[in-house]
Amino acid sequence: MKNILCLFMLFSSFGLFSQTQKISELLKLEKNMYFADRDSAYADPYYGLKKLIYGNKRFAENKSISPRQTDEDLRNTELGQTPFATIIGCADSRVPNEIIFDQGVGDLFITRTAGQVMAEASYGTIEYAVAALDTKLIVVLGHQSCGAVDAAMKLPENPPGHVVTLINAIKPASLKAKQSNLSDVEELDIAVHENVREQVKLLRNLEPLLSRKYQAGETLIVGAVYNMQSGKVEFLEDTITSLPKFAKAK
Ligand SMILES: [Zn+2]
Repeated sequence: MKNILCLFMLFSSFGLFSQTQKISELLKLEKNMYFADRDSAYADPYYGLKKLIYGNKRFAENKSISPRQTDEDLRNTELGQTPFATIIGCADSRVPNEIIFDQGVGDLFITRTAGQVMAEASYGTIEYAVAALDTKLIVVLGHQSCGAVDAAMKLPENPPGHVVTLINAIKPASLKAKQSNLSDVEELDIAVHENVREQVKLLRNLEPLLSRKYQAGETLIVGAVYNMQSGKVEFLEDTITSLPKFAKAK
């Protein structure tokens, strides 16, 4: 049994169980659907993803319902919380997570920093969500026109104070984007996407807890980018992996 587990973990790390699939096929998204069940979203990360996709669809199409935000909803959360998704997002004031996903109180566990750059306290926050709150879906959410990524693209010589921490963390993505010989706007867009992919990778390899959860197929870690003009969140297909344990349930 132990050997089988080791083999599984070895194959997982080489991507045998993490082949990408079309999001719509994997999630069985329906064109005219706008809602996904709350309990299923907490129990199964693919339903969680579906719930975020449908919620964002409502927002982008001006059909938001602002769920679970009444006085009664607030009182009901007093005894505990069961957020169905953990979001690692940018601190940018134009990307309010509950609004763009049209979710309510107790739905999303969120950590936000500029350029969604993570450090020790962010890791602990995410681990708490996974280990103590049993959140099975983690979304790294970047956004179009991100000022932190833009700063990393320009690589200023003497960034003020602790801003250098942000720039250094985003630098690998910005260097990758710069090799593309495109316009500044296009390069920034590539850097935003690459930064999200790097951060997804970082979380999947984060010892000791997340890497284990990811390899065991218990936690879905995906990347997404929010477009301010359209209001739409694009989930990056190449970051949506197949977790056998949950894929079976559908
Ligand atoms: Zn930003």
